[in-house]
Order: sequence, then C-alpha cells, then structure tokens
Amino acid sequence: MEMANCLRCKKVFPKIIDPICDECKKKDEELFAAVRRYLEENPSSTVQRLSEETGASAKKILAWLREGRLEIAQATGDLRCGHCGESIATGRFCEACFIELSRQIDGITGRKPAEKENAPSKKGVVMHTKNRKS
Ligand SMILES: [Zn+2]
Ligand SMILES: [Zn+2]
Repeated sequence: MEMANCLRCKKVFPKIIDPICDECKKKDEELFAAVRRYLEENPSSTVQRLSEETGASAKKILAWLREGRLEIAQATGDLRCGHCGESIATGRFCEACFIELSRQIDGITGRKPAEKENAPSKKGVVMHTKNRKS
C-alpha cells in the first residue's frame, strides 16, 4: 500500500484516495457539522463570521459553498459566480449563468453528428413524397 504524508498534520498514513489522513478528515467533518449547525441558526452569516464562530478557515468554508454542501441564505459577496462574477450564496455559478451554461451543455450533447446527418435526409424524404402527391 502506498504511504503518504498527510497534507494537514504531516503524519504518515496509507494513502487511498484523499491526501489527508482519517483523523484530519474526521476533524474536517466535525468542523463542517459545526459550520452547518451555526448556519442553520444564523442563515445570513458571512463567511468571515462563520469562520470566527466555528474555527473553520474561510477558505474551507468557501470550498464547501462551491461544492454546494453549504448554502448561505443571502449572497454576502464572499462567493462569486465563476462566469459573470455576480455575488452568489452557493455553488459555482449564479442562477442565470447556471441555466445558460446547462442549456449550452444540453445543446452540445444533443447535437450528435449521427442525428444531424439523419435529420435532413428524413426531411428530404417527406418533401419528396409530398411533392409526388401534389
Ligand atoms: Zn492528518
Ligand atoms: Zn453568473
């Protein structure tokens, strides 16, 4: 098994997936639970306030917000849309950009080359029979 130094506490541990050891991971989860609890009671807290009250670093809280694990009731300016820079409460993008971006992704996946080739030929057949009838 591959051994590695924990990124957090430098302890040597058997590295499986995470770059931090189980102990640090557990500490992270405890911090996360504390932040979430505080946020439930104070939904419009800023990241800075959350950090001060729970001891979790602002960087960590921002990462949780980006992952969508935490949600601040109001956009406080701590987190910004990765597309337009709008202040947002959770995730990576504001709602408008999220809709726009998912529409673009749908457009890309929906436009398969095979379908594109079939569509005009089908249309051609329909047109052809129509022309014959009239
Ligand atoms: Zn560790
Ligand atoms: Zn945006």
